Amino acid sequence: MKWISDLLDIIFPRSCAVCGKSLSGNEKDICINCLIDLPRIPAYTPGNPIEKLFYGVLPVERVASYIYYAKESPYNNLIHRMKYSDRPEIGERMAATAAKELLERGFFEGVDIIVPLPLSRQKKSQRGYNQCDHIALGISKVTGIAIDSKSVIRHIANATQTHKQREERWKNVENIFSVADSASLKGKHILLVDDVLTTGATLTSCGKAILAASPDTKISIFTLACAGKNI
Ligand SMILES: [Zn+2]
Repeated sequence: MKWISDLLDIIFPRSCAVCGKSLSGNEKDICINCLIDLPRIPAYTPGNPIEKLFYGVLPVERVASYIYYAKESPYNNLIHRMKYSDRPEIGERMAATAAKELLERGFFEGVDIIVPLPLSRQKKSQRGYNQCDHIALGISKVTGIAIDSKSVIRHIANATQTHKQREERWKNVENIFSVADSASLKGKHILLVDDVLTTGATLTSCGKAILAASPDTKISIFTLACAGKNI
């Protein structure tokens, strides 16, 4: 069926989500050159620097991320397109690729459910989808772990975090999550999933809400990207 995809490429040219050049053949989302230079975070090991970001802040089992999110990097286009340009399938495919590697490293061992970081109802209806649902879907397809996108809710659409100072960021996200159904989380090992990890404030806030409602849960975290090159 290669002729069909070739024909589709002519009618609807697909472009690389990183550099914008047109894609061909088997290339999906990003071209081969951008794929080769993907700013990969080293493969998961217990106690890695990203995991350590949460030490003393939130009790976590395991934390992993897939690529670096550095200022001015063209690779930020991947996240941007997934979030704001109606291309959530980029997140799903990237997450599936990451999950295949993490699976081999035992990252998902004992994980019972995947909880995508929720958006507020208002934001979800503005955007039409929650990008984290798609990241969760990519992981679920590889691991077979079920997704729970109902038990945790975000009840405040907080202002964007981008221009806030570190301390403000933590204050800004305090108490914005709550647990609608603590019985379904009880005793479970939860994998919280988000798109970009910056300070960890939002994930910590969500994790704390879960632990407050259901103290016997375990929490692991996966994000598609992690800010900073030095982590
Ligand atoms: Zn490219």
